[in-house]
Amino acid sequence: MSRSETLFANAQKHIPGGVNSPVRAFKSVGGTPLFFKHAEGAYVVDEDDKRYVDYVGSWGPMILGHGHPQVLDAVRQQLEHGLSYGAPTALETEMADLVCKLVPSMEMVRMVNSGTEATMSAIRLARGCTGRDNIIKFEGCYHGHSDSLLVKAGSGALTQGVPSSAGVPANFARHTLTLPYNDLASVEKTLAAVGKEVACIIVEPVAGNMNCVPPAPGFLQGLRQLCNQHGVILIFDEVMTGFRVALGGAQAHYGVTPDLSTFGKIIGGGMPVGCFGGKREIMSCIAPLGPVYQAGTLSGNPLAMAAGLATLGLISRPGFHQELADYTTRMLQGLQERADAAGIPFVSTQAGGMFGLYFSGADSIVTFADVMASDAERFKRFFHLMLDGGVYLAPSAYEAGFTSIAHGDTELAITLDAAERAFAALKRA
Ligand code: PMP
Repeated sequence: MSRSETLFANAQKHIPGGVNSPVRAFKSVGGTPLFFKHAEGAYVVDEDDKRYVDYVGSWGPMILGHGHPQVLDAVRQQLEHGLSYGAPTALETEMADLVCKLVPSMEMVRMVNSGTEATMSAIRLARGCTGRDNIIKFEGCYHGHSDSLLVKAGSGALTQGVPSSAGVPANFARHTLTLPYNDLASVEKTLAAVGKEVACIIVEPVAGNMNCVPPAPGFLQGLRQLCNQHGVILIFDEVMTGFRVALGGAQAHYGVTPDLSTFGKIIGGGMPVGCFGGKREIMSCIAPLGPVYQAGTLSGNPLAMAAGLATLGLISRPGFHQELADYTTRMLQGLQERADAAGIPFVSTQAGGMFGLYFSGADSIVTFADVMASDAERFKRFFHLMLDGGVYLAPSAYEAGFTSIAHGDTELAITLDAAERAFAALKRA
């Protein structure tokens, strides 16, 4: 028995399913989840001492690679001064100023502890500020696990086959209107009918929780126009895309300005952080300035701010995001060539340093239906073959992959070697 197997068996005694977040359970790919004990640069190391090139990166935060010395130093320095004060710190202001500088649509920002808190609070703010109860989201998009947002959700919810969670009262769910991603006509029709009741549209500007689906040309621009027309607040959930697809996030990459944005992952450099913010006029509705309540004992935690500030500083250097995107493109091209050579129908998607892999004969992936039509069984076998070859992909056909700046030629070679063998094995199967 491997150590991961032993640890997983033990974990299940007191942790539901042995994991603290469902997708970690390997339920959709089968087998035993790997237990990690160390991570460095582009690699994670499991409890059996096997090293893997990591394309999960803690689901996005580790854009610098694991354990970047300057990030660790920043945390160590802050550590000497205590773990949490529950009172204002200069670090929080530094973080708020930096976020507003890097993302111009952010005029004010509130720090929270996770992406879930960020989106949940942004939705409450939109409702409180417009006096409207309904929200629009898109099928397959995941915005954390708050009640309003677990309706036809992506990510683990989709992977586990429960996109609409039990425990969400029907009376809550009826306020969440779910429309097809990349289908502007359906948004137009819905807003024409019930626009006056809609507080906000929340969207992943690149959908990263149903694998990876970039926005169709004009989709985000169209949402912006329709929101203006109907007095609806446009929220970009940039928890995944923020500081990744470009320094200024997807809104910079695609040139569309939302009213509110949510961030997480990279902004904490691996510590538990999120934030939401946007137009001053809207953010002024938040307590203590306004009537919409939102709070957090550990919000703006100094260790998390230190890790986040160091990370944002390092990724601000010119050329960083181009390098990240270039590695990702080279890797995807290499996979495509090898899949083609083996005669395996395969297509990939990319937005900067995030990507999607599909076992599909489709020319392109644009809709949720395109995603669902890809061969998830084949992905499952590919996932395990890649694992055998020393490459750790997201353990689900419905999650985006992430690269880091620590990924280079060595990691590319390991990845493509493993893929060549994996595609050949899939062909034989
Ligand atoms: N929004 C998006 C787009 C996400 O990808 C995620 C998590 N993957 C969340 C919100 C929720 O963030 P967290 O898991 O930190 O609560």
